[in-house]
Amino acid sequence: MSENLYTLIRSRVADPAKTFIETGDGRIFSYADTFALAERFAGLLAGLGVQPGDRVAVQVDKSAEALILYLGVVAAGAVYLPLNIGYTLTELEYFIGDAEPRVVVCRPAVEKDLAPLAARLGVAHCLTLDGMGDGSLMDRVETVPAGFTPVPRVADDLAAILYTSGTTGRSKGAMLTHHNLFSNAETLVRYWRFSKDDVLLHTLPIFHTHGLFVASNVVLLSGASMIFLSKFDADEVLRLLPRATCMMGVPTFYVRLLQSAALTRDLVRHIRLFVSGSAPLLADTHKEWEARTGHRILERYGMTETNMNTSNPYDGERVAGTVGFPLPGVSVRIADPETGRHLAQGEIGMIEVKGPNVFKGYWRMPEKTAAEFRADGFFITGDLGKIDERGYVHIVGRGKDLIITGGYNVYPKEVETEIDAMPGVIESAVIGVDHPDFGEGVTAVVVADKGCKLDEAAVLKALDGRLAKFKLPKRVFFVDDLPRNTMGKVQKNLLRDQYKGLYKA
Ligand code: AMP
Repeated sequence: MSENLYTLIRSRVADPAKTFIETGDGRIFSYADTFALAERFAGLLAGLGVQPGDRVAVQVDKSAEALILYLGVVAAGAVYLPLNIGYTLTELEYFIGDAEPRVVVCRPAVEKDLAPLAARLGVAHCLTLDGMGDGSLMDRVETVPAGFTPVPRVADDLAAILYTSGTTGRSKGAMLTHHNLFSNAETLVRYWRFSKDDVLLHTLPIFHTHGLFVASNVVLLSGASMIFLSKFDADEVLRLLPRATCMMGVPTFYVRLLQSAALTRDLVRHIRLFVSGSAPLLADTHKEWEARTGHRILERYGMTETNMNTSNPYDGERVAGTVGFPLPGVSVRIADPETGRHLAQGEIGMIEVKGPNVFKGYWRMPEKTAAEFRADGFFITGDLGKIDERGYVHIVGRGKDLIITGGYNVYPKEVETEIDAMPGVIESAVIGVDHPDFGEGVTAVVVADKGCKLDEAAVLKALDGRLAKFKLPKRVFFVDDLPRNTMGKVQKNLLRDQYKGLYKA
């Protein structure tokens, strides 16, 4: 039997008349509409010469059609390659040159510049799609007859390539197989108890694993519905929450919603599940959310390369500041980053994972792939963490954010947690900045309440005695906001650049 993800999704849906997507402007796509359009997209691609395994690169605004195009590409046996809409032409040149897609779909506004570039890089066709579901892709698909037979695929064939955000070095294409995506979505459906009665409020981008795979595949595999907004808008979310049963978001969504007085217990009375991931959810946000809504946000941990690895439990205790337990079928261990030696429970080290969720490798980078897997198949995530005595996984930060000062390791999270607990502090980021004596100097960047009297000296005084001397920041800076990417991750690389040269000899 074919293990094409599309075929598996399609075979699950019991009621084709049921709504799959309702867009923010009220357009409805039933499951039958969705499959009909996906198969016409597949037919169009096949007609354009797309062979199984060929890449189809897509850089478009979020729309129902864009999501259905993902299904169409997969049905055609091709490899879906979504690109962040923030990428510039220079960045696109790298991705297109690296992935060599047969077809590129872009926003109408960039076609003029992108089409010649794509042609120069050997792309056969450049089509357009806008956020309203119009463009040359849609004009072409109208002429394609219905009913394409999905191309048979085996579990290990590629379904998608997602480029990592690449904050250090070149962005890498993570190769995800049909089975990676199917098995992880199926696990999440069971773990999070998704059913056809669910209505997911979808406000995440669909060029990233969170909105594209976690949210959308879980809905598809459970035959549920989603309200599909083109972007996160707090007022719109507050208006629509009463119609939803679940929402998935990045921590910033929850922080923003908490700023509105309209967020009440009554507003979310139909919700059964709030999920957070892609960046750490502050324990304070978790507590404030519970106090305001009565819901404990379920935090989970995953990454582009691995889909989802761990999750707080649906029924058991959701512990703030942790990412819960390894998902069924996923093995998680903590190892010494240098030697790979397995560490005892409670020790901090590199998080390594193995399971059907873990990607096949980096596109055309066999050496990079080999370097990031252990001999026994565990993937070295690059995240540092520990497993506590109850089995909950804690993340203490990215390995590359670890600060080494005077030969000592400082985990930024430990210092941030102390600073965040001070009255008046909203959040903080602790980074290592080159230092002539210490190698790196611990440096804190703090966001405080407006009008709060906290200053550098007060922060340093409060930390004194709470942390070992070598962990104390050498300098503390106050800013209005921390730089974040679209997935809500604090961009420590930008902060490191900003404060470079601070401790000159
Ligand atoms: P991405 O590949 O863009 O999804 O980024 C994956 C990275 O996001 C992981 O390696 C973690 O560093 C971070 N991440 C994802 N979920 C969480 C979480 N719940 N808490 C802390 N960090 C997270």
